[in-house]
Amino acid sequence: MRKRKRIIISAVVIFLTLLGIRCGTLSTLNIFPDSEDMQLGKQIDEEIKKDPKQYPILTNKPKVKQYVESVGNKILASPSIVKRGVYAYQYEIIHDDSTINAFCTPGGYIYVYTGLMKFIDNEATLAGVIGHEIAHAERRHATNRMTKQYGAQILISLILGQNPSQVAEVTANLFTGFALLANSRADESEADEWSMKYLQTTAYYPGAITYFFEKMMAKKGGGGGGALESFFSTHPLDQDRITHVNQLLTKMGNPKPSEANTFTKQYKAIVKEL
Ligand SMILES: [Zn+2]
Repeated sequence: MRKRKRIIISAVVIFLTLLGIRCGTLSTLNIFPDSEDMQLGKQIDEEIKKDPKQYPILTNKPKVKQYVESVGNKILASPSIVKRGVYAYQYEIIHDDSTINAFCTPGGYIYVYTGLMKFIDNEATLAGVIGHEIAHAERRHATNRMTKQYGAQILISLILGQNPSQVAEVTANLFTGFALLANSRADESEADEWSMKYLQTTAYYPGAITYFFEKMMAKKGGGGGGALESFFSTHPLDQDRITHVNQLLTKMGNPKPSEANTFTKQYKAIVKEL
């Protein structure tokens, strides 16, 4: 049995080598096409919209929704965005003041909680958070993780001539819904980095996400309670992540925050509508 396993692993290594993939780059290998990200996102979006009890979509504040969309669109105009016009990039606000979170499905369906909007203090911070969510979709973190965990299994099945559609089905079942959105620490740091890159090409202060981190850590230190649970389960936050963002800011020459790049006044006016 062990020998058989070794033979299979060797076959996979040969197969990957034939594809020109070396070990060092295996972590960024994604065996799924973009259409899989889009399909998964569409499915989760449908699940969310079927469950207004858990995900009450804010429908009576078109001005606030337009505002969130306009922030998102400024980020999507960044030259570093590669899936513009490919992924959905749609926004919804979830009317739940008790949850401080935002998330993005594969394929770009973005959700922001009113709890988060009320918690943060300026538009640049919202841009930093939305940029981070967009980065999860752009960098295909969910299907990357699926590849990492089940890719070898699928490749083995292909090599052994088993039914690949059956394997794909098993994979899809294992990754239904929100298990897909639990990001690793490495994914989080990468999303922070790309968010800052996107923001560098906008009028926003690229370090604004640090305001959010500082407030979250302070709240966590003070107990925080249920409002933070959802955030920390989908976006792990620790000191390393904060240090990483500060290092990136140093590399960017420590741009200075001001009203002209944080847009605090107009943000406060919008949040009053909620
Ligand atoms: Zn995240």
